[in-house]
Amino acid sequence: MENIEQKLISRINEHAAPIRIMHVCGTHERTISKYAIRDIISKDVQLLSGPGCPVCVTPAEDIDFAISLAKSGKVIASFGDMMRVPGTRGSLFDARSDGYDIRMVYSIDDAVKIAKDNPTLDIVFFGIGFETTAPANAAALLREVPENFSMLTSHKLMPPAMEILTEDTIVDGFLAPGHVSTIIGTYPYNSVSERGFPIVVTGFEVLDVLLGIAMVQNQIESGRSCVENAYSRCVNVEGNLKAQEMMYLVFKKIDSKWRGIGMIEKSGLALKKEFEQFDAVNVYADIYEKAQHEKKVSDIDNNQNEMWEGCICAEILTARAQPAQCPLFGKRCSPKNPVGPCMVSLEGTCYNWYKYTHNKGI
Ligand code: SF4
Repeated sequence: MENIEQKLISRINEHAAPIRIMHVCGTHERTISKYAIRDIISKDVQLLSGPGCPVCVTPAEDIDFAISLAKSGKVIASFGDMMRVPGTRGSLFDARSDGYDIRMVYSIDDAVKIAKDNPTLDIVFFGIGFETTAPANAAALLREVPENFSMLTSHKLMPPAMEILTEDTIVDGFLAPGHVSTIIGTYPYNSVSERGFPIVVTGFEVLDVLLGIAMVQNQIESGRSCVENAYSRCVNVEGNLKAQEMMYLVFKKIDSKWRGIGMIEKSGLALKKEFEQFDAVNVYADIYEKAQHEKKVSDIDNNQNEMWEGCICAEILTARAQPAQCPLFGKRCSPKNPVGPCMVSLEGTCYNWYKYTHNKGI
């Protein structure tokens, strides 16, 4: 007897017509790569990986600023994934190897604790991530935070990026990210589906992904484009209102630069004026200005995608290419020696392709 997964695979394959479904979540890519979902469904149903890896889309200039702060004697507290992502002049890991004080943390609370335990040091927390991590960072700033703590804010918002992708990328429908959707709900994707793109919010089990694919396929077949929810055990229409309230007490929406994509209107978060005493750009304005100037004269200033020569992460992040098409993939670029951001993070497309399709032994 067929189990549910087999039934879904049969359904997808029986109804297969050439379509391109993009996900915008690193964890979706991990499930798809790890369980070889591309190999078990019809080749007509292409699964594209979009800009779903937060460290991959963090602009090089923010990494450069963090390194400049470290070189000025501040302590940088960063998530581990961010450590090896290259800026224009190396990574945080390189700077730590040079002797600067850069510490790996698992949350903003770890960084606040470092600040409390070391009142003579200036601690800067590198706050990155999508709507999933922003509420926790906001919550920390709403609690008691010591004066020697500040935050370099580089949060991104997913729905505006999906809108841009509908203009620049050949895509027929989206799998929306489950984690982000637990916070924002399903309604913010209406602006994307109203452009004629089916969207299904889904989770991270193989069954979730297969169900999401079948539901997008079904919308396309029936000529519909709406937002559907295949992850109702965690996501509802309005999302987590308390988390949203905290997020927008502390942050405001701003136009924001995505590495590999460029500026996207209202796609990022900055600290509100009431929190400017914790805003590293404001507290260390002189260092920020200097870092901006140095970027203007750096080697890759004219490369608006901020990628090193030969790296096609900009194309990977917008699904215009796949990792195997990069001439450096598995040769000069690997998880041990990443050239571009997509090979660094567990959520990076190149990393997952390498780990699950190129070399299972890493
Ligand atoms: S394989 Fe490496 S160099 Fe090529 S696109 Fe991916 S991260 Fe960039």
